[in-house]
Amino acid sequence: MSGSLRRRLRCCLVCILAFLGLQFVVVLLRLGVFDEFASSQLILQQQQLSWQFIAHTPDQPDDFFQYNRQLSDNLPAVRALPATRHDSCNARHYALPHASAAQLSVVISFYNEARSMLLRTILTLVSRTPEDYLHELIIIDDCSGDVTLLESLERVMTLVCATRRRPTLIFRRNLRRMGLIWSRNEGARVASGHYLLFLDSHCEVNNGWLEPLLDRLALNSMLAVSPVLDPIEPETLSYLAGNVLLKGGFDWSLHFHWLPRVLAVEELPEWPYSSPTFAGGILMISREWFHQLHGFNPHLEIWGGESIELAIKLWLCGGQIEIVPCSRIGHIFRVRHAFEFPPQFDEDQLDSTQATYLRNSKIIAESWLDEYKYLFYAFKPAAKQIPLNLHPVQPYDPALIKAERQCHPFDWYMRHVSPELRLQHSNLSALGTLRNAGRCLYVAETKARLHLQFTSCHHLGVTQWHLHHDTGQLSTTQQLCLGVEFTVEQPQLRLETCRNCQAGQHWLRTDTHLQHAQTHLCLDNPLEDQLVLSACRPHAVSQSFQFALEMQSP
Ligand code: UDP
Ligand code: MN
Repeated sequence: MSGSLRRRLRCCLVCILAFLGLQFVVVLLRLGVFDEFASSQLILQQQQLSWQFIAHTPDQPDDFFQYNRQLSDNLPAVRALPATRHDSCNARHYALPHASAAQLSVVISFYNEARSMLLRTILTLVSRTPEDYLHELIIIDDCSGDVTLLESLERVMTLVCATRRRPTLIFRRNLRRMGLIWSRNEGARVASGHYLLFLDSHCEVNNGWLEPLLDRLALNSMLAVSPVLDPIEPETLSYLAGNVLLKGGFDWSLHFHWLPRVLAVEELPEWPYSSPTFAGGILMISREWFHQLHGFNPHLEIWGGESIELAIKLWLCGGQIEIVPCSRIGHIFRVRHAFEFPPQFDEDQLDSTQATYLRNSKIIAESWLDEYKYLFYAFKPAAKQIPLNLHPVQPYDPALIKAERQCHPFDWYMRHVSPELRLQHSNLSALGTLRNAGRCLYVAETKARLHLQFTSCHHLGVTQWHLHHDTGQLSTTQQLCLGVEFTVEQPQLRLETCRNCQAGQHWLRTDTHLQHAQTHLCLDNPLEDQLVLSACRPHAVSQSFQFALEMQSP
């Protein structure tokens, strides 16, 4: 064989081999082998980066974070989660707006969060949110003790997002502790997406969390939504299914409560439903609408009440709130605060946590509750003493917002949004603190025994009494009723479990006297610190008791 023929044959062989090789690569590509390889590389890269980041976690005692930090460090950053939403949510067609009209800015403010937990929150977001919609992540470090956290996080996230077009990453660190409310407003100020999601720093978004929320928001630009929050157990970090039969509400102390959701005829539990407030502080809203409402009230400090305030304002000024069960976000519900509140002002009876919350609640009551603010003061008499010290540089005036947006009065909210608030007092004839001669009747607990005594009416834990219209019972908020015991010679007062049709627990009111229906004796405080029963004397000051609030007859 001549040399040129041999060369030609070799060339053909190379071409055939190259062609076969190419075919093989095409088959592999079709099978997605490279994708899998690339994504497993990405996961590996993410894991390595996570370890480097977490390895620098400062040592802290167990109760510092109020969850199992070591376990969190040892779990993968993005772990498989149980599918907690209803099966039908997967099959449903969501009417999503085009990505160009639905860019999402996520705002996460954190204070002293464990590195692994914060990273998990962020990485689940990046991996479980459609890339086209996730416009930016705004991460605000509220002056945490771990001072190098933010710059390491920035390094890790820049590498993780190197191969993606989105999201834009914005990192800020407050030079001093500014609190959640200020930080979230700041995040919203710098945001540029169409929608804002406010998220805590100890969350895991579940698969398909965004689509059901966007589907609702696209229908109504004045709607704000919460996902159903799936509880993550603080000690075991188990991911549980949240309850879709609960909605968000609050009581007259302006404390958040879950309320039962009553299904309408033919309503399915997995359908979106109206709620008086958000599910905790996790919510999504159009950025423009949020700014039209002037954001979170900037007079509120550190933590507490801001999402209740936003909810009341939103409903009263033309908006609506829905909880969307097909959207699930896991959240660690901690038993107590993992952070301290900076001292507020000189108050001997209140610690700074209570003082901050009470001041925030007072601002909400004064801003939005109209004449119903007296109910708030009846439940929280200590709030009267709290100075508001509103910062003059913060331009936020509820009266202007009401005029600007022609908002409803608070009474409308009670009639249309949260009738539960009205129910709480419709069968009461009087409630709140019970005062005699400048001091208030108080149930003190000593060595597992309950004592009736008198204390300052501004004492934070001062007992709140309810005088029931129909039964005449005088009860505490812990469902203890004031009754009379007959076993000894003289009838004695005592606290007992409230029971139906209990004649011994029936009190009658004549002016300011409280007369026991069975014995016809009156409550009396003859020694200024002792509650007894004695014969009624119409003008006796020691028998004159005033409730903080008298209700009109229903
Ligand atoms: N947070 C903050 N600054 C503070 C207090 C809290 O940035 O001064 C953050 C905190 O790290 C969390 C969010 O605000 O991401 C909500 O706080 P938390 O989870 O304690 O509230 P909860 O879920 O109990 O309502
Ligand atoms: Mn939280």
